Amino acid sequence: MSKIAVVPGTFDPLTNGHLDIIKRAASVFGQVNIAVMVNSNKKPLFSVDERIELIREVTASIPNVKVESSSGLLIDYAESAGASVIVRGLRAVSDFEYEMQITSMNRFLDEKIETFFIMTNNQYSFLSSSIVKEVAKYGGEISGLVPLQVEQALKRRFQ
Ligand code: ADP
Repeated sequence: MSKIAVVPGTFDPLTNGHLDIIKRAASVFGQVNIAVMVNSNKKPLFSVDERIELIREVTASIPNVKVESSSGLLIDYAESAGASVIVRGLRAVSDFEYEMQITSMNRFLDEKIETFFIMTNNQYSFLSSSIVKEVAKYGGEISGLVPLQVEQALKRRFQ
């Protein structure tokens, strides 16, 4: 399939759960644009540039993945990137309501852009950036939950 798909998120920071969704999206769609969203409601631990740099390093070996930032509406980014698909990951039922709301709004804004959901890999169903940051902050073990580059960046940040 030669379609361009956007995988949007805050990625503060990238976890193995995100990476799993990105790899699976890249095996289905011709090109995957990871859109690091600049969301003024959140106070991120890593700057947008740091998040982009980490994702670029980790995904460097996947040829059809590109990493960009977006500060406006996701749908505007998708349109300007020529994407026809948005890919989101789904973990638990608790994700559903929020995703349903966002998806409906995005369809209202542009009905030509479809949102696809990829169900989490069971081994990462409990994983979120927030929980990883919480554990890393208190010196807990996070290897296996995030890529090595992210693990090192978290350790440096909380030193
Ligand atoms: P957002 O703030 O947009 O939810 P996140 O960085 O938290 O951004 O997540 C980006 C995307 O990755 C979302 O679709 C989210 O559901 C998905 N995701 C996050 N963690 C996991 C995981 N462990 N397994 C599957 N999908 C995940």
